[in-house]
Amino acid sequence: MKSTVEISAQIPFNSSLPMILPKTPQLTSEQIAEITAIVGEFGCTLQPIIGTVRTIYAIVGDERDELMINRLEGLAYIDRIDRIQSPFKLMDRRSDLANHRVKIGGVTLGRELLIMAGQCTIDPKNPHYFIETAHAVKEAGAQVLRGGVWKPRSNPYSFQGDNKSLDILMDASRRTGLPVVTEVMEPEHIQLALDAGVTVLQVGARNALNYSLLRQIGRAIAGRDTAVLLKRSLHMGPLNEFISAGEYIAAFGNPNVILCPRGTTPTMDGYRNHPDESITPLLKEKTWAPVVVDPSHSVGKAIYVPACALAAVAYGADGLVIEAHVSPSHGIGDDPKQALTPAVLAGLITQAHAIHSLRQSAS
Ligand code: PEP
Ligand code: MN
Repeated sequence: MKSTVEISAQIPFNSSLPMILPKTPQLTSEQIAEITAIVGEFGCTLQPIIGTVRTIYAIVGDERDELMINRLEGLAYIDRIDRIQSPFKLMDRRSDLANHRVKIGGVTLGRELLIMAGQCTIDPKNPHYFIETAHAVKEAGAQVLRGGVWKPRSNPYSFQGDNKSLDILMDASRRTGLPVVTEVMEPEHIQLALDAGVTVLQVGARNALNYSLLRQIGRAIAGRDTAVLLKRSLHMGPLNEFISAGEYIAAFGNPNVILCPRGTTPTMDGYRNHPDESITPLLKEKTWAPVVVDPSHSVGKAIYVPACALAAVAYGADGLVIEAHVSPSHGIGDDPKQALTPAVLAGLITQAHAIHSLRQSAS
């Protein structure tokens, strides 16, 4: 039987080559010369793959360069370019880091379910609530304590956080022995948090596309054990955009990046955001990075949090980050509406472990 696609004898066929698909069955010699010159500027060569009805052209070399692709896509006779090669050098599932494991507080993500829990916002005027919450989330089974020191608020007149809360966070960490996660929004926060001993820096949804901050974090954590909990921005479309934000951090040498779906643009009444824990299996097809889902900001109301959290584990999440408070009505920030009480958190953690074990035994 005659094959429909014939590969030029001199080309080592490589399924990861990006392909140029022209609008016509084949390119003219002038068009081939023009394209060859463009890819040549970027150190690549062009190889035709001759079919009976159509010829397509493989770019051989490292085709990640945006400018080269943009110039080729700008040619009137090109239909499209199928980019098969991953744009991520480090975060890709097939990269050299594929076996990298992120470890926090003795938990290896991917093996054991990681639970981070604590207040949305630490109230610097009432530190005892945070200390009590810290002990309570530990008792409930959390292995990492969350506490917001600096807060990104939609309203400029709302409480914005306080450096004093960093001392409260670290005091709670020392008393409980739990590592802590807190959000950083400015270069000054990064240094203060690292100097204080914060183990996980959170990049919030509003800053996940702030490439300058991502680079500053990457630079600051290089050579340390610090990890980064990178939330998904509401403005991220394709999943590659989310993973690329992680690549910005990893590019400086510390690949301890955790991807955190936290709900995307709301599309219906009821939930604060549109729950997006279902992207977990899709992320895992593309990247080795662990996924820790935030059900609290996803659904935005304590009564809906357990269902969303359990769904996330069923979808394959490696962990959860959950807002909890010993007395939600005395909380500030999101806590009055989103925080779970320690009793609800404890029940949820037990169920989450059960689902995680089921998944582990099935795989
Ligand atoms: C938070 O964790 O309290 C927070 C503000 O999260 P997000 O950036 O996901 O809105
Ligand atoms: Mn919050």
